[in-house]
Amino acid sequence: MTELPSSALLKQNIRELYPEVTHGRGVYLYDTAGNVYLDGSSGAMTASIGHGVAEVGDAIRAQTASVAFTYRTQFTNAPAEQLAARLTAHAPGDLDFAFFVNSGSEASEYAIRTAVGYWREKGLPRKTKILGRGTSYHGMTMGALSMSGHAARRPDYGDLLHPFAVAPPAHAWRFAEAGETEEAYGRRVVAEFESAARAEDIDTVAAVIVEPIVGAAGGVLVPPAGYLAALRRMCDRLGVLLIVDEVITGIGRTGEWFACEGEDVIPDLLLLGKGMSGGYAAVAGVLLRRPIVEAFALGSGVAPFGHTFSGNPLGAATCLAVLDILERDDAFGNAQRRGRQLEAGLRNLQAVHPRMADIRGRGLLWGFEFVTDAGSRDAPAPSRNAAGAFVRLCREHGLIVYPAGIAPHNNAIMICPPLTITEEEIIDLLDRLSTALPAMDALLDEWAISG
Ligand code: PLP
Repeated sequence: MTELPSSALLKQNIRELYPEVTHGRGVYLYDTAGNVYLDGSSGAMTASIGHGVAEVGDAIRAQTASVAFTYRTQFTNAPAEQLAARLTAHAPGDLDFAFFVNSGSEASEYAIRTAVGYWREKGLPRKTKILGRGTSYHGMTMGALSMSGHAARRPDYGDLLHPFAVAPPAHAWRFAEAGETEEAYGRRVVAEFESAARAEDIDTVAAVIVEPIVGAAGGVLVPPAGYLAALRRMCDRLGVLLIVDEVITGIGRTGEWFACEGEDVIPDLLLLGKGMSGGYAAVAGVLLRRPIVEAFALGSGVAPFGHTFSGNPLGAATCLAVLDILERDDAFGNAQRRGRQLEAGLRNLQAVHPRMADIRGRGLLWGFEFVTDAGSRDAPAPSRNAAGAFVRLCREHGLIVYPAGIAPHNNAIMICPPLTITEEEIIDLLDRLSTALPAMDALLDEWAISG
C-alpha cells in the first residue's frame, strides 16, 4: 500500500516535504527550522510589496471593524468604488470600468463571459470562440485552461475543455528560424496569428487573448517589438475583441502600471490579479473599455455575472492599502532601477555560467533558460526537470525562484522579487543565486555524461 502523508493538507507534490513558513518581513521569509529565504519570485509573482507590511494589516483591521462583507447586488461600498476609480484612472485609453473577482482564473472566465455577452448584446450570438496562443497560461478553471496553450496542463481534461484554437507563440530566441531577423520573425508570427484566426469562421470568434509577456508557461517570453500593437490592429480588422492578460505583468511588475502601456495598446479587456493585492487578499479584476460596457448598458442592462466575493469591501480595502504602499515607495520606478541592476547581475553570472541562456525580461520580471552547452539552444531532457532541480538548489541556498519553461522543456527560471526590493537586497539575491549555480553546473555536466 502506498504510504500517505500524515498531514491533512493536500500538497501539490504529494510526496514532497515542504518547509513550514513562520513569517515574512519585506523580501525575506522564515521557516520553522530557522532558515531564512529571499523571496526572489514574490511567491508566484504576487507579493509585490513584500511580506509583513504593517500598514496593510492596519487597513484590513480597520475595514473588518467597519464592514468586511457586503454583497454586490445589495450594496455598493466605498473601497470597491475607490479601487475601480483608481485603477481605471491609471489604465490607458477608455478602459473606464472595473469588475472584481477572486483569482486570475476567474478574471479569465469573466473575460470569456464578457466577450461572448458583448457580441450577443450586439446581435451576433454566434461569436463564442476565443483564440488563444501556444505557450500561454490563463488559469486552471476549465474556460481559462481552454484558452491556454499549455501543453503540460491541458491533456488531463480531454473534451471537458472547449476546443479553442491556438495561434503560434511569439519569442524569437526560441522560435525564429535560423537567419531570420527579429523584425521579420515578428511580421511572420503576426501573419500566422491572423491565418489562425481566419482559419476559424471569423463570425464565430469573439476574442483573442494574449499575455503581453508570457509568464510561467514559457519563463518570461518577450515578443518582438510592435507585436501587441499589430495584434490590436488585426483584432480591429477582423472584428474580434482583444483580451490582454496582465495577471502577472500588471500593477508595476514591468515598471509601469500596465505592460500594454509601453506597447501603446488599449485592450478591450485587461485582466489583473496576483500583485494587485500583493497577496494580502484573494482579489483579481477585469478592466473594460467604455464601448463594451455601453453595449450591455444599451442592451440587456445587465453586466456579466460575478461571484459571491466580487467587489467585497475587505478585499478592495486591502488592495487600496497595497496601492498606497506601491505609490508611497515609488515601487514602479524602483522596479525599473532595480530591474536594470538585476539584469546586469544576471548577465555577469551568465559570463561565468554560460549555460544560463537568453536572459530576458522587463522591470522586475526576468527569466532565463538552462541549456546543455554554452552557445546552444538545446534544453536538457525534459525528464531531468532542470527548472525543478534549480529551484531546489536555490532553496537550499536560501533563495526562492520560480520554475517555468516551454513544455515539454521545463528548463526556465523566473526571477521576480517584490517591487520594493532594495539595492542591497538585489545584491543579496544575486549572491544567493551565484552560490546555487556551481551545483547546477555540476548537474548539467552529469546529465551531459549520462545522457
Ligand atoms: N493568467 C496568468 C498570466 C497567470 O500567470 C495566472 C496564474 O499563474 C493566471 C492567469 C491564473 O491566476 P490564478 O492562479 O490566480 O487563478
